[in-house]
Amino acid sequence: MTDYAFLTDELKRQVQSFEYGTQLKEAGRIVACGDGVLTIEGLVGVKSGELIYITGGKYALAMNLEEDSVGAILLTNARDLSEGDLAYCTGRIVSVPVGDELLGRVVNPIGEVLDGGKPLKGEKFRRTESPAPSIFDRSKVNEPLYTGIKAIDSMIPIGKGQRELIIGDRQTGKTAIAVDAILNQKGKDVICVYVAIGQKIAAVNSVIQTLKKHDSLSYTVIVSSTASESAPLQYLAPYTGTAIAEEFMLQGKDVLIVYDDLSKHAVAYRAISLLLKRPSGREAYPGDIFYIHSRLLERSAKLSKELGGGSITALPIIETLAGDISAYIPTNVISITDGQIYLESELFHGGMRPAINVGLSVSRVGGSAQCQAMKEVSASVRLDLAHYREMAQFSQFGADLDVATKQTLAKGARLTESMKQRQGCPKSMGIMVLELYVAGKNFLSDVELSSVNAVLSEFISFVSEYYPYFIAGIERKGKLSEEDKKSVETYFAEFKRKRETV
Ligand code: ATP
Ligand code: MG
Repeated sequence: MTDYAFLTDELKRQVQSFEYGTQLKEAGRIVACGDGVLTIEGLVGVKSGELIYITGGKYALAMNLEEDSVGAILLTNARDLSEGDLAYCTGRIVSVPVGDELLGRVVNPIGEVLDGGKPLKGEKFRRTESPAPSIFDRSKVNEPLYTGIKAIDSMIPIGKGQRELIIGDRQTGKTAIAVDAILNQKGKDVICVYVAIGQKIAAVNSVIQTLKKHDSLSYTVIVSSTASESAPLQYLAPYTGTAIAEEFMLQGKDVLIVYDDLSKHAVAYRAISLLLKRPSGREAYPGDIFYIHSRLLERSAKLSKELGGGSITALPIIETLAGDISAYIPTNVISITDGQIYLESELFHGGMRPAINVGLSVSRVGGSAQCQAMKEVSASVRLDLAHYREMAQFSQFGADLDVATKQTLAKGARLTESMKQRQGCPKSMGIMVLELYVAGKNFLSDVELSSVNAVLSEFISFVSEYYPYFIAGIERKGKLSEEDKKSVETYFAEFKRKRETV
């Protein structure tokens, strides 16, 4: 019999030396380029969303598949690019480096580091576009994600896996809320991803500095595509951020992702679409503008136990013009998310910061994730405030008010005052519960309106000093028992006596 051993050896050698990786398949030629958009001819087998390699180490993304040409967006710089350059299909979808090595780093939407540090090792990659978890892969939102902002955690609670929109005019403190929420995740085993889209470099730098100052960069990844970057990169940024977040979620971790902001993302996509000569619709946005946001936000989820129980909580931000929440992009994103935090310029300039309009803000699923202590103290607060707003409108007419109305107004004013919170000072759950209980039970009725917050913080210091385990106890149990309530009352009486004698 013939000895075929040499054949087997040869086959083995070939299999072992086979290299995976990008295979350049078909070649075509660039026939037009400008504004980051290319027209390529000759790539017959290209697929929508496929990565295209261009000679000279450049990459583009196939967007428009036409009969005899392909419209693609350029992902790298346009320098040295000219008509006639060769372009190849790669058979790949855009992928970015993911994993622990990204923590504390600033990257651009294609995964290149921007912070001047070591380049990434790129041990693991993930596609920027991937399908959202199905209904069976998800579990209910049942764990709270505290932002550390009293007005939000009490009245508009957010659960892990929820998508809560932050919406408001320019300069109303939208970024401040998102950054405070990131700061509050310190030591809580939640990884944060901050995606900056179309912002000024100075604004992104200031966010990075704030995170550094509060020691919060070590658990945060920043994906930055500033206004000076091309529209295709700005368009890609949120998908890159989500891919990075997904990797952590699939490891069973909790992730908080901030998209700052999706209005600029929509504008970048509109620019690309118009350059690709796609038909435009309302406000010149293309017809699939809803789809680009819904497919992005659907990827935030709380996974089922079988899949590790990880989660992505999303805080997309939308900027409105003159408070118009019924414009095209705001209504789209409102209808995709599970609630919104509505910020108002008037409140902001009136000194109410964070400038949350409680009447127009809502959280559709977070309530079920609230712990008993928070649920109990905040239920009455929401009602009291609604009642107060209604009465405050009537009392503007200067009518003679009876004692009960005056009391409701005074209590409401103090409650509203107690919701003010400085930027960069997130509070722990125990402290919030204690403060809300004190304000909600009207213990502050004889305190001047302007000193409500000072008195509250003095009281918290008093409790932490004399009863150091009390606040930690509430946090551990997540409950406020009848006994605890009595203790708070005793502590407050003691605190008041002590304050009066000083
Ligand atoms: P833009 O539309 O420019 O993105 P924005 O809505 O994100 O603005 P921020 O940049 O967060 O708003 O805040 C605007 C200004 O208000 C900042 O100077 C910030 O320091 C201040 N600010 C925000 N929140 C508070 C707060 N709770 N207390 C005091 N100042 C605040
Ligand atoms: Mg901002």
